Amino acid sequence: MISLNDITLTFPDGDERITAVDNVTLTAHPGTVTGITGPSGSGKSSLLAVAATLIRPDSGQVLIDGVDATALAPREATELRREQIGIVFQQSNLIPSLTAHEQLTVMNELGARHSRGRRTAVAKRSRELLDAVGLAPHADKRPHQLSGGQRQRVNIARALMNEPSVLLIDEPTSALDQERGASIIELILRLTGDLKTSTLLVTHDLVHLPQMHGVVTLVDGRIVADPPRTASTPLRADLGAVAS
Ligand code: ADP
Ligand code: MG
Repeated sequence: MISLNDITLTFPDGDERITAVDNVTLTAHPGTVTGITGPSGSGKSSLLAVAATLIRPDSGQVLIDGVDATALAPREATELRREQIGIVFQQSNLIPSLTAHEQLTVMNELGARHSRGRRTAVAKRSRELLDAVGLAPHADKRPHQLSGGQRQRVNIARALMNEPSVLLIDEPTSALDQERGASIIELILRLTGDLKTSTLLVTHDLVHLPQMHGVVTLVDGRIVADPPRTASTPLRADLGAVAS
């Protein structure tokens, strides 16, 4: 579970500061996808970077399974991020020379001495995840041999390698056509249910919002309105109001 509690984030802007995230509070529970939407520049990516513990907010708490990440030392925050948080960035950062399978296993092999048993377990997890995202037949292909949608599936599978409890995804459909975009959203919804991640999904594509369990809309860094939803998708994420 992830709770963002009264988050404010500013950036320097000449002599002044620009408020990218303004008093945002929200909670996402295991097995649910909370959509974050809003116009370009409204603070979506900034909010996700705070949730990912990559940027420390000016104020507010980021609670990951009850632990306040903003109170941790940098090294502890890095460990929390590695163990609990899966991140899919807006710009794909696959390594051109690695196969899909290697994209998933490389992080677990870098910098650590591991037993053969550990390596076998990592390889097994990679195969299972590539299967879960529909890429088992493409496990040995490199990024240039994959379509945009397939690369996005690799990104998502990689984010899930360490069995994170929180999954954060920024604009996964922005480079895809409608049909491939829809199937990526379906995949995220299915994996969130199967793996019980607490998922925050940034998208400005409104067609996908009715499928989410909760939606927050940002304008100028603030949560603005109640999310649009249908009767068949009850609100399961607690969406906090703006304290202004
Ligand atoms: P979105 O993802 O909704 O398009 P962003 O979170 O990227 O919005 O940006 C929100 C605001 O914060 C914008 O005004 C943007 O220019 C500003 N901003 C984002 N990142 C930085 C940064 N690293 N330094 C300065 N300003 C930034
Ligand atoms: Mg963005």
